[in-house]
Amino acid sequence: MSVFTIIEHDDGVVPAACLQALTIAGELAAGDTVEAVVFGPDPGLGSVLAANGVTTLHVVDHELVTDYSPEIYGESLAQLLKQAGPAGVVAAGTDRGNEIMAQAAARSRLPLATNCVAVTADPGAWTLTRARVGGLLLEDAELTASTKLVTVVPGPGDDVSASPGASGLLTQTFVPDLAADFVHSRLVERTERGSGVTLATARVVVSGGRGVGSSEGFAPLEELADLLGGAVGCSRVATSNGWRPHSDQVGQTGTKVSPELYIACGISGATQHWVGCMGAKTILAINTDPEAPMVTRATYAVTGDVHEVVPAVVAEIRRRADIRAGRRPALA
Ligand SMILES: Cc1cc2nc3c(=O)[nH]c(=O)nc-3n(C[C@H](O)[C@H](O)[C@H](O)COP(=O)(O)OP(=O)(O)OC[C@H]3O[C@@H](n4cnc5c(N)ncnc54)[C@H](O)[C@@H]3O)c2cc1C
Repeated sequence: MSVFTIIEHDDGVVPAACLQALTIAGELAAGDTVEAVVFGPDPGLGSVLAANGVTTLHVVDHELVTDYSPEIYGESLAQLLKQAGPAGVVAAGTDRGNEIMAQAAARSRLPLATNCVAVTADPGAWTLTRARVGGLLLEDAELTASTKLVTVVPGPGDDVSASPGASGLLTQTFVPDLAADFVHSRLVERTERGSGVTLATARVVVSGGRGVGSSEGFAPLEELADLLGGAVGCSRVATSNGWRPHSDQVGQTGTKVSPELYIACGISGATQHWVGCMGAKTILAINTDPEAPMVTRATYAVTGDVHEVVPAVVAEIRRRADIRAGRRPALA
């Protein structure tokens, strides 16, 4: 039986997390078809999906399927599953992926396993390893249902852009049955970031905690993030003190990040923070306390005052950039 996967995209850019889910769907299909679902008009994803083993693309099309709506997407998926009856659906464990799948599961009365880090197909069941308690506990479980629903924990990787052209993919339009008064929540405004990268997708995150001391103390962290093409994050102490907005918070009750490099400045590494950054490939801790949990768990650590270390790193990056550009480095 086929295995479905959900492809989220933002103007044709597919997040790496969806391609990771697609790979797992392919492994679970074990020779059967892998079929993708997109909501709204297909922005030309055929070539990308075909190159990743998808044979059929289900395009969910309805006048209510415009911008993101968890209820509409979830209900549409539930109806598609009822019609198509795949062995299962694998979606990325992103905010949207988890939300759509939870909606579809509740509406289809099917079980959903979220935050999976490994899934294998056995006769009659899928065997899962799930990250629980923010990733501190790994749970082995078995999922038995006519259609099994899982989301997988996103890892680091590159997003992929749609590329127009023939793909050989079978495209099927699915029109869900949705009444006009069905919508209870909908997206009313979309604010584009002027520039920069988002915390969730940044390859480098420079994060600050109590040790940064104030909102002004974040200026060197912003400078460092800018130089590295990254985003600024923070601990809950920084948001509770009003130094940073909650959207910058990393952790259990904030954003979970998985960058190539996470630089933790003046952050102790409490469990609730650690679960938000433990997916980073490399962690650099800058802390005055060599015994702080963030320091002992980090890949690299600098024992020192964040107010001295970060400006020194910024100055060194600028000095090297000057040399590379053939400029005379500024005197310290
Ligand atoms: C239900 C619940 C949910 C939570 N969710 C989150 C969450 O999502 N994210 C989160 O971050 N927290 C969360 N917390 C809070 C969490 O438990 C910690 O209190 C918080 O992470 C600590 O933030 P911190 O590391 O900035 O501060 P502290 O723990 O006070 O650590 C400050 C660190 O800075 C170092 N330091 C001090 N001065 C300097 C300096 N000048 N230079 C360098 N280092 C210095 C210190 O040595 C220390 O290690 C949650 C708590 C609860 C109960």
